[in-house]
Amino acid sequence: MPRPLPVVESDVTPVLPALTPEPLRLLTRQADLQYHAIPARGIFNAPSATHMGFWSINPYVGCAFGCTYCYARDTHRYTLERAGRIGTDIAASMPPWLAFERRILVKEHAEARVREALRSSRSPRAGESLVIGSATDPYQPAERRFRVTAGVLRALADADVRGWSIVIITKSPLVTRDIPVLQRLARHNTMGVHISLITVDRELARQLEPRAPTPEARLRGVRRLAEAGLDVSVNCMPVLPGITDEPAMLQALVARIAESGARSFGACALRLRAASRRRYLPMIRAQFPALVTRYESTYRESVYATETYRAGLHQYMGALARKNGLVLREYRRASGYDVTGASDAIRGERVEEDMQDVGVEENSDEQLLLL
Ligand code: SF4
Repeated sequence: MPRPLPVVESDVTPVLPALTPEPLRLLTRQADLQYHAIPARGIFNAPSATHMGFWSINPYVGCAFGCTYCYARDTHRYTLERAGRIGTDIAASMPPWLAFERRILVKEHAEARVREALRSSRSPRAGESLVIGSATDPYQPAERRFRVTAGVLRALADADVRGWSIVIITKSPLVTRDIPVLQRLARHNTMGVHISLITVDRELARQLEPRAPTPEARLRGVRRLAEAGLDVSVNCMPVLPGITDEPAMLQALVARIAESGARSFGACALRLRAASRRRYLPMIRAQFPALVTRYESTYRESVYATETYRAGLHQYMGALARKNGLVLREYRRASGYDVTGASDAIRGERVEEDMQDVGVEENSDEQLLLL
C-alpha cells in the first residue's frame, strides 16, 4: 500500500461565489446530469475578493467536462454547503469531485445582475481586466440550453463597455456561436478567447478530460475565431508531467496550434492543489501506475513541479513558439490576467486521502455526444 500524498494547502483564502444561502431549484435532468438554478447576486468577482489581479465572472458553478486535473472543484462544494437542503442532499449523495461534474448550478438572472453592476461601482473600469470562466467552463453543455454566458456578453456589449481587457477561457467550440457579440466587444476593448488544449491525442484527451470536446473540435473552433478576426490563443495547460510532456507530443501540439490560426499560446506545468489531488491522484494510480512514484516525489511537499522542470518546460515551449511563428504568453501574478494563478485562490480542506481507486473514468461515446 503506497503512502498517501499529503494535501498541500494554499496560502490564500478561498473564492466564495457571491451567492445567498437560498435553496437550489431543479431545472432539468440530462442523462446523469442535473441542472439547478441558483441566484446570482453579485455576478462580478472583484480582485479584492479573489486575490487575483483581475475581475472574473463564472456563469456556472461546477463543470460537466470533468477534467481530472481541474482545480475548481472546491468552489462547488462551498456553494452546496451554503445552498440549503438540496445542496446538502447533493453533497450527501456523491463525492464532491463527482458532484462538481454532475450537478451543475446555473446562475439565474446573471444578465440582469451584470446590467445592474455596470450602473454601479461593482464592475471593472477602463484599464482593468475581466476573465470569464476562471472556475468553470462558460461554454460547457449547459450553455447550449441556458445561455447564461451569452446573456453576460450581451449585457457587456449593450452597455458599450470600453477599455477593458476581456478574456474568455473555454474548451468548447460553442464559443463560436457568440462571434457576433465578441466582435462588438472587440471594437473598444482588448477581447481575447483562450481555448484550452493540452494534447492533440484524442484518446489521451478522453482519458484526462472525459467529457470535453475533442482536440479536433477545439482546433476547428480556434480557426473559426481567427477567421472572424478575433484574437484567439491556446492554453496548453496544465502540462502533465510524464503524460503530455513528451517532446514529440508538445511539438505536434504547437504545430497544430500554428496551423489553426492562433497567434499565441500559454503553457505551464501542473499545479496540484488540494482540490485537484482528490480527483487527479486516484486517476494516476488507476491509469498511469508507473507514474505514482514520480508524482509522490514531485508533489509530496509542494503544489508545484520542480523549478528545474518548470524552467526546462518554459525554455522548450519558447523554442517551439519561435519555430512555429507563435508568441508564448507570459503570466503575471500581480496584475492582469493570470489564469494559472486562479488555483491559488481556492483553498481545499485538509484531507488524508489515499490514492485509492474511486472509479474515476467513464469514456463512452454517449458522453461525447452530450457535447
Ligand atoms: S473545462 Fe475547465 S472548469 Fe471545466 S472541468 Fe475542465 S478544467 Fe475544470
